[in-house]
Order: sequence, then structure tokens, then C-alpha cells
Amino acid sequence: MTVAAYDLDGVLAAPVPASFFTKPWRHMSGVERSQRANRLLEWYATAPLLHVPTERSFHVITARKEEVRSVTQRWLEKQFGKRVLSVCMLSVGRTVKNVVEFKAASLRRLGVTDFTEDNRTIVRALRRQDLRCRVWHYVGGRQVLDYEPGFL
Ligand SMILES: [Mg+2]
Repeated sequence: MTVAAYDLDGVLAAPVPASFFTKPWRHMSGVERSQRANRLLEWYATAPLLHVPTERSFHVITARKEEVRSVTQRWLEKQFGKRVLSVCMLSVGRTVKNVVEFKAASLRRLGVTDFTEDNRTIVRALRRQDLRCRVWHYVGGRQVLDYEPGFL
């Protein structure tokens, strides 16, 4: 049986525009930080739909923080209704290491067989984990299973 899970930003939802991140967080004033937070919330509420899964139901595993769970769940419900089984969100700092560990643990816990992710670094790192899960790279609007030659 297939248990599907999808990354959110850059897969189900259009990625947050790069223009949102021109200035590093540590160089921003308090006002600039709260402006960015508000722009992000607005984006999360209205982000264009990117990919519609073919599975009847699926999990969402995202490195968005728990703080934005309600806006995230409202968007998912609007797009997919009751098709979303669960939403796993990050509760620690968003480093590559933390994101890989969080996504790997979520995939194991949920028994996911097929995960789709757009970030190539995360895709490669997850494929190196001992997971019983195919990790699909979402690129150019397609899910690609481009494991390195000799991987298995
Ligand atoms: Mg993504």
C-alpha cells in the first residue's frame, strides 16, 4: 500500500518568492522582522497551488514552523479538503541538519512509502538515510526518481 507524503513550499504550494529574503534576518530591525513575518503569513494564506497529488489522501511534511500551523492548515483545507491526513511541522531551528532529521523521523513514524520534495539538498540527504521510502525530487513540475547510479 502506498503511503504518500509531500513537502509543502515548492511542491504543493508555490515557493516563497526569493525577494522576501534579500536581507539576512540578523541584519533586520525589529520593524523589518515583523514586516517580513506579516508578508510571510499573507503569502501562506494566499500562495498559488502548484501540485495536486494523485493519491486520494496524503501527509504533509514541511519545515514551516509550528507557529504558522493555523494559516497552513486553512490553506491546505481550502485546496485539498479532507485529503490531508496530517501536517508535520518543524519545532526546532531551520538548519539543513535539523530539517533532514525532522523529515526522516516523520517519514519513519508515519510509515511513508513515497515522499516528494523540491529541495535537492534535502532529497540527497534523505536518500542516504535508512528509510523504507522512495524520495521523489520535484523539479520542473514533475516528480523524478533520479537516484544516483549504483545507489541500490
Ligand atoms: Mg520545499
